[in-house]
Order: sequence, then C-alpha cells, then structure tokens
Amino acid sequence: MPSIVGGGGWRLFSADRGMTSLRRRQSPLFSSLAGGGGDAPHLPVVIVGAGPVGLVLSFLLTKFGIKCTVIEKSMEFTRHPRAHFINNRTMEIFRKFDGLAGDIEKAQPPVDLWRKFVYCTSLSGSVLGSVDHMKQEDFDKVISPISVAHFSQYKLTRDLVLENKILMGHECSSIQLTDEGILLGASFNNGGTMQERKLHCGLLLAADGAKSTVRELAGISMEGARDLQKLVSVHFLSRNLGKYLSSERPGMLFFIFNPDAIGVLVAHDLEHGEFVLQIPFYPPQQMFDDFSIKVCEQIIVKLVGWEPADVQVLDIKPWVMHAEVAEKYTGCNNRVILVGDAAHRFPPAGGFGMNTGVQDAHNLAWKLGLLLNGVAGPSILQTYESERKPVAISNTKLSVQNFKAAMSVPATLGLDPTVANSVHQVINSSLGSVIPRNLQKTVLEGLFSIGRAQVSDYILNEKNPIGSLRLARLRSILDEGKSLQLQFPAEDLGFRYEKGALVAEDCAETAQQAEKLKHINRSSGEYIPSAKVGSRLPHMLVKTLSSSSEGVLSTMDLVSGDKVQFVLIVAPLKKSYELACAMLKIAEELTLSAKVCVMWPQGSVDAKVRGSRSELAPWTNYVDVEEIPRASDNSWWETCQVSKNKVILVRPDEHIAWIKESDMVRDADSEVRRVFSQILCLNRQQV
Ligand SMILES: Cc1cc2nc3c(=O)[nH]c(=O)nc-3n(C[C@H](O)[C@H](O)[C@H](O)COP(=O)(O)OP(=O)(O)OC[C@H]3O[C@@H](n4cnc5c(N)ncnc54)[C@H](O)[C@@H]3O)c2cc1C
Repeated sequence: MPSIVGGGGWRLFSADRGMTSLRRRQSPLFSSLAGGGGDAPHLPVVIVGAGPVGLVLSFLLTKFGIKCTVIEKSMEFTRHPRAHFINNRTMEIFRKFDGLAGDIEKAQPPVDLWRKFVYCTSLSGSVLGSVDHMKQEDFDKVISPISVAHFSQYKLTRDLVLENKILMGHECSSIQLTDEGILLGASFNNGGTMQERKLHCGLLLAADGAKSTVRELAGISMEGARDLQKLVSVHFLSRNLGKYLSSERPGMLFFIFNPDAIGVLVAHDLEHGEFVLQIPFYPPQQMFDDFSIKVCEQIIVKLVGWEPADVQVLDIKPWVMHAEVAEKYTGCNNRVILVGDAAHRFPPAGGFGMNTGVQDAHNLAWKLGLLLNGVAGPSILQTYESERKPVAISNTKLSVQNFKAAMSVPATLGLDPTVANSVHQVINSSLGSVIPRNLQKTVLEGLFSIGRAQVSDYILNEKNPIGSLRLARLRSILDEGKSLQLQFPAEDLGFRYEKGALVAEDCAETAQQAEKLKHINRSSGEYIPSAKVGSRLPHMLVKTLSSSSEGVLSTMDLVSGDKVQFVLIVAPLKKSYELACAMLKIAEELTLSAKVCVMWPQGSVDAKVRGSRSELAPWTNYVDVEEIPRASDNSWWETCQVSKNKVILVRPDEHIAWIKESDMVRDADSEVRRVFSQILCLNRQQV
C-alpha cells in the first residue's frame, strides 16, 4: 500500500502517461485560473471521492490531458468488499486501461470457482439447486473481446489508486458557486484539530457515493424507492471454509435457508477464504448493534453447518438498499456533475452499481476532454445526462426486477420475504404498538422462526407433499432462468443512447426498427449486434493490412484508449472514401483527432488494398483492415445489419455517433460539418 501523509499530504503517482494529441486550448467558460476563491488554488477539475468511479474518472481525465485532483475523506481505503462482479462492458473499458483488464483476469479466482450460484439449506447441507452462469460463448469471446470478471472492489480500487493523485483525509463539507466555478471547503484533521482547506475549481465532479454530500449541497434530490431492505454485511476470512467449498461445491453466491438462519454468502475469493455474508435485519426491533462479532460468528456456524476453526470476522457494516436516480445530473450552473452512486443507487442484484458508475465516467471523460480543450461547446455536458440518466433509470428497474427474482426462491420455499416485511410493518404500526417495546423483538423473532421452520428438513423433502411441490417449483424457476441471473448481455452490451452527442437517424422506419430491436433484445435477454446510432460498436475480429501491422484485433480496438479520437469505418467504395476525406479535413479544422478505418472483405488482394492510399491522399491517418468473420458468421456489414455503402462514425467511447449511406450525401464537407457541429454541440460560428 502506498504511504499516506497525515493532514492531507499529496500522494503522487505516475499519472501523466498517454497525453493526448489534442491542442491545449482552454474553452472560455472554464479558462480562468485565478480569482473568485481568494487565495485558494484554482484547479480545472476536482473529483470528490476516491471510490472506483472517482478513480476511473481521474485516470481517464489524466490520460486525456486534463489536470484533476481527487479528494477523499478517508485516510485509508476500506478493505470491506462490496462490488465483485465486473460486467462485460466495464471489462471492455478496462482493456484500455494500460493492461488493467489483463491484471484482473490473472488475479481473479479461476472461473470454475465462481461460475455458479448455489441454493442450499446450509453450506454442508442439502443443495436445493444451482445455476451455472457461464456459457461457451463467454470463453469463445463471440460478442466481446473480453469476458466478465469476479474481482473484489477493494482490490480494483487498490489497482486504480496506483494511477492517481489523491488528497486523502479531506472531506468536502461546503461548496459555493463563484463567477469562475466552485469554491469548495475540505475539512481535514491537522494533528487533532479540524481545519478547512479551500480549493477553487472550474468543475466539481461528485463521485462521493450513495450518500453524496456534494449532491446534497448542490440541492439535487433523488427519485425512486427508498429503504427496500436493511442488511448487515459481515466481512470474514476462513481458509478452511474456502478449501471445503472449492472442493465440494464451488460458487460465487450461496443462498442459504435453514430454520436457524438465513443469509446470502458472497465468496469473494474461495482460494484465499475471503467472504462477505449478507444478513437482512429489521429495526428498531433488531438493531445493527445486536450484530456483535460473536453473534455474527454464531450465524456463520449455523449457515455453514459445521464450525470452521479459523473464522476471522474483519468488519461488520450496515447498509440500506435503495432504488433511486438523481432528478438531474448537474447542478450549480453545470459546475457540479454527479457520477456513479452519487447519481444512482440500485439494489446490488445483478451487479449494476459500480459497472454503471464506471460507464458514467467513461461517457463523461471524453466530453470533458473536448470541452476543457476548447474543442466542444459547453452544452456537451447536457448530453452526459441525456445519455446516462435513461441508462440509470433502466438499470434501476432491472436491479429491482432482479431483486424480486432473487426473492422468488425463498418465496417458493415458503419463506416469502414480503410476508416478513408485512409482519415487521404490522409490529411497527399502531396495531403492533400495543405490544410493549421489549416484547416486540421477541414477537418478531418468534414469528420469523415459525417462518423459517418452512425450510426444515421435516417440511422440505421429497416425501412431504408440500416440500416435494416446493422443490419441484424451485427446480423449474432455476431451469427456466427465472431466478437471479449473473449476466445481462442485452442490457450490458446492448444499451443504446437515443439522445445526446450523436446524430439520430431521422427516418421513422429506422426508429421503428430500433424499437423492435430493443424489444427483441429485452425479451430474449441476448445481445444482438447493431450499428444503430447510440449503440456500442459491435465486436468482430479484424486483421490490419498495413505494414506497421498489429496483427489480429477487435473492431473495438480501432478506437484509441489513449486519446479522444473519432473513427470513421468505411467500405472501400468511391463515395465512402470521399466522405472519409471530408471527415479528416473537417476534423483537422476543428483540432479534433480522427482516423479512418477501411474495412476490406476477407481475402482482399494486396493490390486492391493499396488503393486506399490514393483514394485517401494526402491523409495518412487511416488503417486498412480485413474482416475475419467467424466460421458461420456474416460479414462486418451484415453483422451490423447495414449495407456496405454506409459509413459509421464511432465516438471515443466506442458508441456510434452517426451512420450514413455515402451515396446519399451530395456535399460531403457540409454534411460532415453538420454532423460534428451536432455531436460536439458547437454553434455555427465555431464550425
Ligand atoms: C453488498 C454490495 C454488493 C455489491 N456488488 C456489486 C457488484 O457485484 N457489481 C457492481 O457493479 N456493483 C456492486 N455494488 C455497488 C457498488 O459497490 C457501488 O455501486 C460502487 O461502490 C459505487 O462506486 P462510487 O465510486 O460511485 O462510490 P463509493 O464506492 O461509495 O465511493 C465513494 C467515495 O467517496 C468518499 N466520500 C464520500 N463522501 C465524501 C466527501 N464528502 N468528501 C470526500 N470524500 C467523500 C468515500 O469515502 C468513498 O471512498 C454492490 C454494493 C453492495 C452494497
């Protein structure tokens, strides 16, 4: 662990790798480097919160040449693991983080130890069912160049910290809007006395988590459902338990139901015996303080079914499940921007929290890169909200749906959590208040233990007609994929921006097709590749044909991870080459980094390929690639479901910004000007 200097010392690490080729022009709105904040240093960007989202933002902004500072209220990073499932899209983003995805793949436990969810009466008792969540396509990398991962959040944070500059032990406690930005007050402990440091910044990025202070100070409220469930999270180690589960019944999540205890065990790392146990609790009859180390150890033994001698409880924390999205993502005259849990908080079912946050950061970073370098107009910030808020709303709904799917299993076994909630509500209502306070706890626990008797061996067995019926129902829920799932490719890779930094396709037929596609994606749960505007660029393997060949790569690698660059994918057709030349010319005028990719069909001969040079001259920022379709697969254009006379403009975040039939364009220059003007939110004078 790097050392942390008390009283808010700076931790400096190599953060200046991969500066962009963008010209360092400051946009007028954010150009001021002094004033307004008295003696406070003026920084272009301050990020509040060094969780995964703040760290990803800082990493990307630094790569894009934007100076930013991260402040973190804690003096050291928590080891209490929360997120552990990294979805496909986030892993695609991490592939471009200087080898981070590769490090995660190497450091995570072997996939056979986490591919299943197990439902059982105890970790050594009957297995009621299990579901394997990995398919052969995941290993064959059909829809993505990388697969999902299982890696604890604290380990990810540790890896990201090495790339960032962080002011530790500084808590943002006040913000004030000035003429040039935000004056923020950060309190810190200076040798036992609390002091305040003032920082002045052009933009304040709130990555300070679900209870975001910045969001509150900016007066932004949350919309949705609160307090869905209260839980205690117990972080513990037991190598004995890890060894036992690795050999007997490996899995990522264990849903355990028995008459003595109920809980969900998350196996963060079976090889090292690292676990987190989630236990629901019902205040005020059950309080967090009731969960002492001793009580937690007893619950662990009840759930394991034997007593592992080496259980070491490291930490116990309460947390509350919400399903909420911020009413707006920006505040204080667009000087404050919410990202990650500060903007949305979901039930963890399906693992969307951190993943959505990392993808928020990925969406925002390139826009800030262009804005702060004077290439894009200020209203590009609005496109962050118009693109990301609908994704958060959709992921909130999906997480709630997943939470209900997870609850369908205990309900089938006769342990309906809604009944537990109703019992709890009745006890807390005026009806229940006639029961003396000290008896309420006994009544609640008595009722819960009657409920838990439903999962006793006496009831839950094949010989008991009720038990047998419940077990049959459970099997069909698991077999039909109606229990909690791990992967959501239709949403994870198939989400699409409809409004934002893009040029929406204007014909009604296309909009209808898009709607149909969305519907097919949702109902099948599958990801269907598409080149619709706003979609993530489909993945296909291609081979570079230039002499400086990088060999075989994914289409997603055509987009640089080190700079803010647009890519136009074209087929080798006269009209498409013309549009490509226009794009390179206008991009240069706008000081925008851009590249052309000429997509050749498999088996194209060398002489033909060399034609790109004369068609695109004098431009050299292009690459010729050859498709490598999978055995039974379609060509690139068929995969994208478009004809090959289309050109596809891809944004720096690998989402499609514009698609056009090249032979429908009369004046290539003015068409490209119009397109960039819309994407970069420029007014006419600037184009
Ligand atoms: C049990 C559980 C399991 C989960 N599993 C998954 C999963 O598998 N996959 C997934 O994607 N998500 C999962 N999540 C959600 C995930 O943990 C969060 O979405 C993620 O931590 C959000 O990251 P963040 O950086 O936005 O916020 P945080 O991780 O909360 O980081 C915020 C940081 O800001 C700091 N801070 C707060 N206030 C201030 C202030 N005023 N000044 C300075 N610093 C401040 C905090 O100390 C903290 O370091 C899970 C959550 C839980 C509870």
